[in-house]
Amino acid sequence: MKARAFAYARPSSLAEAHAAFDGADGDASYISGGQSLVPALAMRLQAPQVLIDLSAIPEMRGIQLEGESLRIGGLTRHAETLTEPLIRAHAPLLAAAAPFVAHPAIRNRGTVGGSVALADPASEFPAMMLAMGAEMEISGASGLRRVPADDYFQDLYQTAMVPGEILVALHVPAAGPRHVWAFDEMARRRGDYAMVGGGVLAERDGAVIANPRIALFSVGPTPVRARNAEAEIAGKALDADAIAAAQRALDADIDPLDDAEIPAAMRRHLARVLLGRLLRKLETC
Ligand SMILES: Cc1cc2nc3c(=O)[nH]c(=O)nc-3n(C[C@H](O)[C@H](O)[C@H](O)COP(=O)(O)OP(=O)(O)OC[C@H]3O[C@@H](n4cnc5c(N)ncnc54)[C@H](O)[C@@H]3O)c2cc1C
Repeated sequence: MKARAFAYARPSSLAEAHAAFDGADGDASYISGGQSLVPALAMRLQAPQVLIDLSAIPEMRGIQLEGESLRIGGLTRHAETLTEPLIRAHAPLLAAAAPFVAHPAIRNRGTVGGSVALADPASEFPAMMLAMGAEMEISGASGLRRVPADDYFQDLYQTAMVPGEILVALHVPAAGPRHVWAFDEMARRRGDYAMVGGGVLAERDGAVIANPRIALFSVGPTPVRARNAEAEIAGKALDADAIAAAQRALDADIDPLDDAEIPAAMRRHLARVLLGRLLRKLETC
């Protein structure tokens, strides 16, 4: 099958992009890396009148340290998160997750902004935004606003963005020397979407863990923050008892659906195993 014919626009500012969207009466799609959108067009799951290419918008490019936070332009490619020194130093969970996202050809085109805008519950980067406590910089009718990751993911493929809004950049609190982190996932084959995955970011003072943020993906309709598990390790050393308590508490954090391939009970089991691995990795950071 081929995509339906569409008009193409390549605005060079956010204002022009919004004008193009409004000019199409909303029957338009933004395109960043095209790695999810182009297959959807080809299968006619989406058939917009106008495709608005975001690639020439300067505010969506670049990676800068701004005080205590790292601003990652929405057009940053998945592949860049593997190599960019500022990301490796201050958003290490993104760099740790990147090799698990799809395959090199897709990572060369796909963008962080596209992935977080799409908010696939099985994707690595949206969940890592939760683990890192990032804020999304969104451009819309009333200008720019910022939405914390905790409020951004609302339901299956539904975020705090409304149609026509653009995810301009991600603001990640910069990790420093006191931070420890771990990422892992379980997939049938490397590059496949994970059966379950997750990341942890925390501060460590001696043996004691503080302010842990645990986020899992492929365990429900959105990426999930494991707050009950976090409470079991906050302010404690990561010994076997604390890890086991966090694994037990995780049951109340996740609500995986049954599907044809993986029953919910299996996902729960895998999530517990994965959390144990993540916390043991954290201990040895
Ligand atoms: C074979 C294959 C395997 C894959 N495996 C994985 C995987 O293991 N893990 C994973 O996470 N992903 C995977 N992906 C998806 C890939 O990572 C995509 O690149 C990513 O999900 C979307 O980024 P993009 O820049 O390509 O977005 P696009 O495809 O351009 O857009 C995706 C959606 O977001 C909207 N959009 C894009 N950018 C913005 C923006 N800045 N503001 C508002 N809306 C926007 C578009 O309108 C569209 O609806 C896979 C894709 C393929 C084809």
